[in-house]
Amino acid sequence: MIYDFIIIGAGVAGCNCAYVLNKAGKKVAIVDKEGVAKGASGAAGAFLSPLPGKKNSYNSLVNKALHYSLDFYEKLIPQATTKKGVLRVADRNFNETKLKDETLGYEYKDAKHLQDVSNNFRNIEGYFYKDAAVVNPSEVCNKLIEGCNFYTQDVEALIFKDGLYNIGNLKAKNIILTQGVNNSLLNIPYINISPVFGLKIDVKSSTKIPFNIHKSISISANKQDGTISIGATRQNHFDEKLTCTTTCDKCQFHINNDEVDVKSLLNQANELIDLHDLEVVEIKKGARATIKSYFPVVGKIIDYETSIKKYPSIKNGTKIAADLLAYYPNLYTVNALGSRGFVFGPYLASILKEHILNEVAIPDDISLEKHFYKTARKNRT
Ligand SMILES: Cc1cc2nc3c(=O)[nH]c(=O)nc-3n(C[C@H](O)[C@H](O)[C@H](O)COP(=O)(O)OP(=O)(O)OC[C@H]3O[C@@H](n4cnc5c(N)ncnc54)[C@H](O)[C@@H]3O)c2cc1C
Repeated sequence: MIYDFIIIGAGVAGCNCAYVLNKAGKKVAIVDKEGVAKGASGAAGAFLSPLPGKKNSYNSLVNKALHYSLDFYEKLIPQATTKKGVLRVADRNFNETKLKDETLGYEYKDAKHLQDVSNNFRNIEGYFYKDAAVVNPSEVCNKLIEGCNFYTQDVEALIFKDGLYNIGNLKAKNIILTQGVNNSLLNIPYINISPVFGLKIDVKSSTKIPFNIHKSISISANKQDGTISIGATRQNHFDEKLTCTTTCDKCQFHINNDEVDVKSLLNQANELIDLHDLEVVEIKKGARATIKSYFPVVGKIIDYETSIKKYPSIKNGTKIAADLLAYYPNLYTVNALGSRGFVFGPYLASILKEHILNEVAIPDDISLEKHFYKTARKNRT
């Protein structure tokens, strides 16, 4: 069979792309060397939280994507979606001024109010946003690809011949790269992905948690299976030499620091709420794919060298219309979802689908063109 699309990478980015294209009547295959949701997506919280603060282009994108994804997951898989809101407690990054964001709408809850809800709350106060949830990442990803063919395969090269891509024995007219932090199958010199490692734990506790709580870490409300997610630590690695090719557990450079990291998460959780009869049932680690601007990237992949050869004046700042640039044939990507893959996934997949099937332009902030022009100007000699 010749597929319309092969998607490489079965994390939340790839699975959402598979879903929208399959719904649009396309024949879709999705391949992953590890399995479904085994990379960052399997390690995720996966909290869906608003980003408060004075309105800017990044938090506007996050909050738009949040509303889209909340609605989407509730309809797609209600049994894996727990939507009870989030209490945000001020910290260094999000002080009171940032949290009092009228545009998002919040309810201030003082310590007494919280103690009335549950006497397990510590002496904390915070801002409650009702539009927040937590989902089960693995259930979501598996549900999204129902109706598509999944193959476990480590793709080593993109071979394009006679108008078709050959991926092992599979053939397709179009490819979407959703590889997360892994080395891209293609050199895209204007997209510099760095891994931000993190750890998330699932615990059982007799304490009932009424809604998600977020300070420097996040604690979920009791999910539908009764467990509570607590995540996630961050360790930035903005080092060009460091690449990520596998999952943390298989990585030869991974230093197992679980005991210390879990203890730190639990200590931070304990400052917010008293968790009785605590039992850690699962520890997950992963690397989020991030670029410095924190915006995700979506769209058709520009061939950097050929475009520059065709229009050398781009390096001097001349803006050539995007449709005149040289693109790899039928090759797309969705990546750099950072710490918000489950928030961005459904929204970005729908943007890409509209772009491919209906030629709707990709918003500038998340387009590859933005990075292409910026890199070209930087490389001016
Ligand atoms: C600890 C932690 C906590 C997080 N918490 C949250 C949260 O609360 N909320 C939220 O929204 N986000 C959260 N995130 C971020 C979120 O998990 C990521 O943004 C998201 O999972 C990225 O999805 P992805 O599909 O781009 O990448 P991935 O999930 O990493 O998927 C990429 C896949 O591509 C496959 N692949 C790569 N190269 C090849 C190849 N050549 N051949 C075959 N397969 C290949 C990999 O095996 C991998 O499975 C968290 C992340 C971590 C690590």
